[in-house]
Amino acid sequence: MNASSTPVPTDTPEARKYNRTRRWLGIAEFALGLAMLIVLLAAGWSGSLRDLAYSTSFQSYAFAVFLYVLMLAVISKVVALPLDWYSFHLEHRYQLSNQKARSWIWDELKGFLVTVVFASILVELLYFVIRRFPQYWWLIAWIGFLGVVVLLAQLAPVVLFPIFYKFEPLQDEELKSRLVRLGERAGTRVRGVYKWHLSEKSKKANAALTGLGHTRRVILADTLLENYSADEIEAVLAHELGHHVHNHILKGIGIQAAVTFFGFWTANWALQYSLDRWHIFETLSDFANLPLIVLIFVLLSFLLMPALNAFSRFNERQADRYAFENIANISPFVSSMNKLAEQNLAEKTPSKWVEWWFHSHPSIARRVAAAESWSRVNAG
Ligand SMILES: [Zn+2]
Repeated sequence: MNASSTPVPTDTPEARKYNRTRRWLGIAEFALGLAMLIVLLAAGWSGSLRDLAYSTSFQSYAFAVFLYVLMLAVISKVVALPLDWYSFHLEHRYQLSNQKARSWIWDELKGFLVTVVFASILVELLYFVIRRFPQYWWLIAWIGFLGVVVLLAQLAPVVLFPIFYKFEPLQDEELKSRLVRLGERAGTRVRGVYKWHLSEKSKKANAALTGLGHTRRVILADTLLENYSADEIEAVLAHELGHHVHNHILKGIGIQAAVTFFGFWTANWALQYSLDRWHIFETLSDFANLPLIVLIFVLLSFLLMPALNAFSRFNERQADRYAFENIANISPFVSSMNKLAEQNLAEKTPSKWVEWWFHSHPSIARRVAAAESWSRVNAG
């Protein structure tokens, strides 16, 4: 109600340029993936790959599916590699990375192997279901997929993340007791807080709530633990606890359930259409149609991106509000936000449409403004 507001933060040309480049990189990756799927289908290359897989599979359908997925994974990786390399370079150009080229190559290799293992298991199951239940395959596949999502959410912090990063339980007694106090006030308990050794690879700071049930935990990057005051770390912890208290991981899975239900239904429609009208596949279980199924999901997630990001920003605001209510005052929250923006070279004031389409978090300027207005209302 009085006009004296904090000055509107401005972004450095460096931050603007870095984020613009990252955005274009994301768009280029998406366009390249889309083009690859379309070419595979339209030029009939998917069919050629299927024939090649069959001819080397000793008449085994399951083995042919595996070979086909493997070839597709290799092709996708080769196509994506130049942009991946560019992305690695970009982080170095802006002094945001600590990762050596050798470690990056090792990560790429591990990522590729994890992808092949997961993709081949999922695709084998998918075509097993399509063959056994050609009429209701999409419904059964959807239920199975949900099971996988829940399992992955549970396993990710203990199986998946440690493939790429080291984690250890937080040793800092003072921080631990602060967290216990935060939890007690909220009438909840987070089972663990882990130190995430991010500094081996990045100069950026980060924190997250991960896992489900027994694996539920807050992970705090060492880059954050080392450079932020105890009050600032508490503010970050309070935000993550807000995600926990508001059940954001489970709600996210719920949204994914709705989206993939529609996705599998649409995929079934597209497969039937391609059989009846285009005659490019022989049967429903012709796994050369896999790029079509992937295409449906890629297009769907692209179209839904603004809605999914809006949902995510809503959750972030909720977690922020939870933090305001549970820390002594908002100034460590505000200073941690500004530090994070600086350290991660984030744009504090992205343009409206960029925020609307691309950002899963409200801009730093908005989060700081929300904190200040909350504090004005609740101090008065
Ligand atoms: Zn958050």
